[in-house]
Amino acid sequence: MSKLGVVFGGSRGIGCAVAQLLAQRGHRVVVVSRNLEAAQTKANSLPGGDHVGISCDVSNEQDVQRAFETITKTCGPVGYLVNSAGINRDALLMRSKSEDMVSVLHTNLLGSMFTCRAALRSMLSKGGAIVNIGSVVGVKGNAGQCVYSASKAGLEGFTRSLARELASRNITVNLVAPGLIRTDMTAGLKEDVEGRRIPLGRFGKPEEVAQAVLFLLETPYVTGQVLLVDGGLQLVM
Ligand code: NDP
Repeated sequence: MSKLGVVFGGSRGIGCAVAQLLAQRGHRVVVVSRNLEAAQTKANSLPGGDHVGISCDVSNEQDVQRAFETITKTCGPVGYLVNSAGINRDALLMRSKSEDMVSVLHTNLLGSMFTCRAALRSMLSKGGAIVNIGSVVGVKGNAGQCVYSASKAGLEGFTRSLARELASRNITVNLVAPGLIRTDMTAGLKEDVEGRRIPLGRFGKPEEVAQAVLFLLETPYVTGQVLLVDGGLQLVM
């Protein structure tokens, strides 16, 4: 059955691939990013028509509230929510700037909490599915990524707890933890160097993460899980 899928961070990278796959499967998609033009351009390019692009900064509680008011008024109840909006400001902790630490935690952790809370109102009556995008470094840790990995590890705890809170309402909550995926976020990394330490020998493609996200969205008997999509990177970290 066709659902309304809201994808935060849907204009680029992993979220963009999720939006594409959702639309291909016949779902109506709301693409969300800070850049309105990018969100609308992406929404208009998706197969099937009637998709919507809106602007919202997930780190801003009021902005998230406004976004969901617009979404539910113009598109109806939310069936699927994907939290792919994220940033990194990688640095050793002793060199990390406070404003960067706050931005990373607000966007990656609090942002997903704001969107989940706002989406629940429209999900409670009919059920739904939420997938948060974590990271292999949230599971394993990584030097130079203390704050980023803390934001993603926090998202894991949040995902498991919310899954417990919402199971009786027929809402599943899961987390996909990607390894190194070829997107704007990893544009500065050399695949021929970094790819060598990945057991499968290469970076992942956004579409490969999107497949895992779709599996979790469309599988109603899986909740509270962390699914690593990392080419085996966790095995050698
Ligand atoms: P990209 O940088 O390619 O895309 C990030 C997306 O998030 C864009 O659509 C961006 O749009 C949006 N975004 C960023 N900040 C905000 C914000 N405050 N409010 C709303 N939207 C925002 O990143 P990836 O696709 O690579 O990453 C997606 C997720 O996957 C992130 O959570 C990231 O941490 C995680 N991840 C990525 C990995 C990788 O190797 N690429 C590995 C592990 C995890 P705009 O700038 O217009 O707002």
